[in-house]
Amino acid sequence: MQDASLKRPPADAQVHLTGGCQCGAVRYAVTDEPITAATCHCRDCQYSSGGAPAHALIFAAGSVTMLRGQAKEHRYKGDSGHTVMRSFCGACGTPLFGGSEGMGYEVVRAGSLDDPEAFHAQASLWTSSAPSWHHVDKNVPHFPQNGPAA
Ligand SMILES: [Zn+2]
Ligand SMILES: [Zn+2]
Repeated sequence: MQDASLKRPPADAQVHLTGGCQCGAVRYAVTDEPITAATCHCRDCQYSSGGAPAHALIFAAGSVTMLRGQAKEHRYKGDSGHTVMRSFCGACGTPLFGGSEGMGYEVVRAGSLDDPEAFHAQASLWTSSAPSWHHVDKNVPHFPQNGPAA
């Protein structure tokens, strides 16, 4: 798809993954390997996904380059006391990114990747918040709340 408004990541950056929202208003590229990836069963993720756990890849801060559009951000005070940010496409609502104030990482929701197969769970988080009908992947380390810091 040719689109004159489509920006490009910096020329020296290696693009590892690309993604965007369902309607195409927001497009991004990731220029780093994920630090880790996790399935999160917390209540906040249930709200933003419509009930399911969230599948998220965690990258070093600055790894995500916006190619088109801008995600709409929602900020709130998390249980940790830190300000948490979740973003989504303002047009179609696809959950996109997340982060926590003062943390050096960016969260990318697996459903927004052009190739969702790029997600490989390394941990299950907040299993204590999972409703009985969530599938908790016990083949990876699982934690009742947050896991050890990445
Ligand atoms: Zn959209
Ligand atoms: Zn969560």
